[in-house]
Amino acid sequence: MSIPAGVRGVVFDVGETLVDESRAWTIQAERAGVTPFALMGLLGALIARDEDHRRVWEMLGVERPADPARIEHIDLYPDALDCLRAARHAGLVVGIAGNQPSGVETQLRGLGFDAGFVDSSAAWGAAKPSAALFAQIIQAAQLDPGEIMYVGDRVDNDILPAHQAGMRTAGHCCRCRPAAIPTTCPGGPTPHRCCGSQPAASPDRAHRPVRSGSSLRPLWGLVSVSPRY
Ligand SMILES: [Mg+2]
Repeated sequence: MSIPAGVRGVVFDVGETLVDESRAWTIQAERAGVTPFALMGLLGALIARDEDHRRVWEMLGVERPADPARIEHIDLYPDALDCLRAARHAGLVVGIAGNQPSGVETQLRGLGFDAGFVDSSAAWGAAKPSAALFAQIIQAAQLDPGEIMYVGDRVDNDILPAHQAGMRTAGHCCRCRPAAIPTTCPGGPTPHRCCGSQPAASPDRAHRPVRSGSSLRPLWGLVSVSPRY
C-alpha cells in the first residue's frame, strides 16, 4: 500500500478516531445524573452547530464530573492499533494529539499505541481548533507542515484547522456519522475524503473485543489513499 507522495508523518486525533468514546460518555452521564441519551443528543447538536461540545454540562444544568473516564482496551476501535503499527512499519513519524485530559498519554501507551509522541490539549495548554495546538503538533513531529497528515473525525475541530496550519488532512467521519458523510468541507476548501465502503458500526461495537491482525483497516486505508491536498 502506498503513502501519498511527500507525507512523512501522520498524526491522529483520539476521540472517535482511535477511541470509541461511547462508553466514556455513558459513564460521565451517569456521574452527572443525566441519561446518556440526553447527553449524547446534546453533544451531537453542539458539534453539528460547530459549537464547543464542552458547553454540554452548562446546557444540561449539571456539574461536569470531576474525573474523566479512563480509556480501556474495549474502547479502542478494532483497527486503531493495527493502523498505527502499519504507519510505523511504513517508516512514518507517528503521533497522537487530541483534545484530551491529562493522563491520556500514559493510558494510550499502556494500551499498546506505539507512537513517536502522544500528547493532549491538557499537556500542551492549547486545544483544537486553535492554531496553537497544531503548531505544537508540527513542532513535536519535527516535520514541515506539508509533510504531516492529520487524521480526525471532525471537520471543524480537525480538518479545517489542520488544513489552515498547512497540513494534509484525512477526515474519518464515518466512525460516528455513517449515514451523513460529507464529501466536501462545508465552508472550506479541503476535500473531505471518507472511507465510504466501511459499513455502519454495529450496535455492540463498543463491547466487542479488539481483534488483532484484523483485515478490516479502514483507518489505515484512509491514510494511505488520501489524495494530495
Ligand atoms: Mg475526535
